[in-house]
Amino acid sequence: SETSSNAIPAYLPLRNDLIGEEPYGAPQLDVPVCLNVNENPYAPEPAVVETIAQRVKEIAPTLNRYPDREHIELRKAFSTYLERESGVKLSVDQLWGANGSNEIMLQLFQAFGGPGRIALGCDPTYSMYPEYARDTFTTWKLAHRNADFTLDVDATIKAIEDVKPAMIVLTSPNNPTGTPLKPENLKRVLEAARTAEVAGAAEGVHPVVVVDEAYIEFRDPGTPTALELIGEYENLAVSRTMSKAFAFAGARVGYLAANKGIIDCVRIVRMPYHLSAVTQAAALAAFEHTDEQLSRVAHLRETRNATSAWLKEQTYKGQPLEVAETQSNFILFGGHFDDRDRIFDELLKRGVLIRVVGPEGWMRVCMGTDEEMARFREALVEVLRIVE
Ligand code: PMP
Repeated sequence: SETSSNAIPAYLPLRNDLIGEEPYGAPQLDVPVCLNVNENPYAPEPAVVETIAQRVKEIAPTLNRYPDREHIELRKAFSTYLERESGVKLSVDQLWGANGSNEIMLQLFQAFGGPGRIALGCDPTYSMYPEYARDTFTTWKLAHRNADFTLDVDATIKAIEDVKPAMIVLTSPNNPTGTPLKPENLKRVLEAARTAEVAGAAEGVHPVVVVDEAYIEFRDPGTPTALELIGEYENLAVSRTMSKAFAFAGARVGYLAANKGIIDCVRIVRMPYHLSAVTQAAALAAFEHTDEQLSRVAHLRETRNATSAWLKEQTYKGQPLEVAETQSNFILFGGHFDDRDRIFDELLKRGVLIRVVGPEGWMRVCMGTDEEMARFREALVEVLRIVE
């Protein structure tokens, strides 16, 4: 389904800074085993499908009207869900939805970034962040992570002092590494941000700390999340999504949890009626089936742990594979692949699609069904043998 992207006609006034740029996205290929975009591999159960169809049918006669711009029912559903998932009670004015957490993040950049503003991330991290920055004319800067991909808190705090970002983007668990963010490390960054200056802003303005928790439901049960700190830190914004653990990527629903002040900033930049009535109805329907939607998360965690252990037993050119510690539904592995594109191609020939992403020498695989993981293991064993 890919269309050619490199044929922009020369007579079009494409923005100068976009000339030569390519649309972002992993290949969408029709292969038997797709383990490349960190989805939940389990399709909705028939009862969920039925409710979605029913709820969409119920609102269909109102589709001549615009949807609820403030999506109040859906924000209530986010509140109910988060209380159940993380034990944190948030009010409707502390919650906000959009078309995927991609749109949440873009709205945050639109509200807090912009010309003269800086956003700081911790490398390696999610490759869409520099695109949100580019699209909003925000300068994107990086602090480096430790060799094991954990946050280098001292380096991050030093970077906050040096570059004076308007936004600090942390990712927990991080993509593509899977690394969890320790609560004490988040607290140290929040404390530093609390008094930090912001380049291009008035005195007394402090950076927003964005914690992207797209994969947080895959963490070990009982581990705290950034949501618990919203009451304590007014400049904390937590991004969540229904796309990953909640198995609803196709519907495009992400959400933001933060104090009302941050939500009100985001409301200034949102498109009017950005969340369609169909999207809102489908998401509400899925939340009626929260148990079913989350029913495979524990199994995916087990799959991740078993796959990590298995990968550590494999070798490449006589050396065991390195496997990054992960609290997500994907694993960054390899560490010393000297031709990862070849490994990618050979896996693809065997019907298995993974992702070339992250630092040189590493690749990422997302957890599939048991059958898909068996095919992945079988293909990888063969490929590692032939690339020796
Ligand atoms: N944040 C991270 C870290 C991600 O990996 C992704 C998806 N790849 C997203 C946000 C966006 O997901 P969505 O828009 O589907 O919520």
